[in-house]
Amino acid sequence: MSPVPKKKTSKSRQGRRRAHLAVATPNLVVCPQCRSPRPAHQACPVCGTYRGREVLDVAARAARRAGGR
Ligand SMILES: [Zn+2]
Repeated sequence: MSPVPKKKTSKSRQGRRRAHLAVATPNLVVCPQCRSPRPAHQACPVCGTYRGREVLDVAARAARRAGGR
């Protein structure tokens, strides 16, 4: 027989346990190139630049996404 809890966990205790389980909001910054919001420390998904340099081929990514598998 497996260990069985002695007492039922009350809704308030359950809520207190889950008080720290909130999902954090992503840290968005404004892209200096195209002024759209992008995640911090990541290349911009809209214009494909990072620190003023183009690092992503946005057109190729869009074509791949539109084409499907
Ligand atoms: Zn951008």
